[in-house]
Amino acid sequence: MSEIEQLLRPELRGRTPYGAPQLDVDVRLNTNESSYPVPDAVVRAVSAELADELSGLNRYPDREFTALRTALADYLATQAGVSFDPEQLWAGNGSNEVLQHLVQAFGGPERTALGFTPAYSMHPIITETLGTRWVDGQRDAQTFDLTVESAVEQAGEVDPNLVFLCSPNNPTGSALPFEVIEAMLDAAPRALVVVDEAYAEFARPGTPTALSLLADHPRLVVTRTMSKAFTLAGGRLGYLAAAPGIIDALRLVRLPYHLSTPTQTVARIALEHADLLLETVEAIKAQRDRIVAELTALGLAPVPSDANFVLFGGLADAPATWQALLDDGVLVRDVGIAHHLRVTAGTPQETSRFLAAMSRLVPAHMMTKENP
Ligand SMILES: *Cc1c(COP(=O)(O)O)cnc(C)c1O
Repeated sequence: MSEIEQLLRPELRGRTPYGAPQLDVDVRLNTNESSYPVPDAVVRAVSAELADELSGLNRYPDREFTALRTALADYLATQAGVSFDPEQLWAGNGSNEVLQHLVQAFGGPERTALGFTPAYSMHPIITETLGTRWVDGQRDAQTFDLTVESAVEQAGEVDPNLVFLCSPNNPTGSALPFEVIEAMLDAAPRALVVVDEAYAEFARPGTPTALSLLADHPRLVVTRTMSKAFTLAGGRLGYLAAAPGIIDALRLVRLPYHLSTPTQTVARIALEHADLLLETVEAIKAQRDRIVAELTALGLAPVPSDANFVLFGGLADAPATWQALLDDGVLVRDVGIAHHLRVTAGTPQETSRFLAAMSRLVPAHMMTKENP
């Protein structure tokens, strides 16, 4: 063990950092960002507001980001149809930071968090690096479904302090059966139940949101982000809705002034232009559905998706296909599930590039009896 490793907290020894490749290739479909740039009208509005504020950067930002919380409440009322008091909303530099605040406040030594793998890789990373025990719950190995019965049984065995549900789920793409959420609140009576809805805006019509359950469930938290549907991954703004008492607990662990003045402004102005920013959502969903249809026609096995990406199986050797796509200028994600890759739905042109590359690769790369 090196000298530094000896200094390091024991539970961090041997860990590798989160590291989706950031490569300079033509077609980047590996981190579920939007392929569409921020529209000019939003760029102009943000620039004008920032120009007025820059001389005021000698002062700390509004620690309570009051105007931004009001803008988030307005957005959820119009888009999701659920009304919140700004006191029920919280934000951070990406939803990863609000997830970190949750684990800081509600996890810790002697405490256990339960998630259902495969799900978002940052849930266990945030949990374990904060000294909380992580239990890898399971989904159906073939379909990646999580049934109420299985979720309840696993929660009963673990009796967790924190539960992470991800719906629509990354990396598999589909929304959870809605009944799992309330069943989990019953089956894990000591737990804070977190539903990560990073992809909610892309869900297929009729998919309910856990936001609608918050009024009746004080142990429920719903996290969302502006990184995906809002085409604002670089703006770093994630948020959550929960009971005011939970928000008070998060104030104990956040660093003072964690949201910079420019961050608050960019997000607030973007929310004022929500309709315009969300205009690309339908186009992205169309490309997602096209990927599912065309990969099926190629003989591969895509998972039905409520998100802006598709997980597909049927590959003989996923890392080899990942490399062959990269050699062809298309970057996708190897999420570590055997025989599967994940691809983000981009512009129609990017989708065409990906599908053309796949149809060239399929004969040699497909899993068959001879090529298992
Ligand atoms: C992309 C993603 C996030 C978003 O992270 P940010 O920090 O808001 O950029 C959160 N949860 C899931 C499941 C995601 O896939």
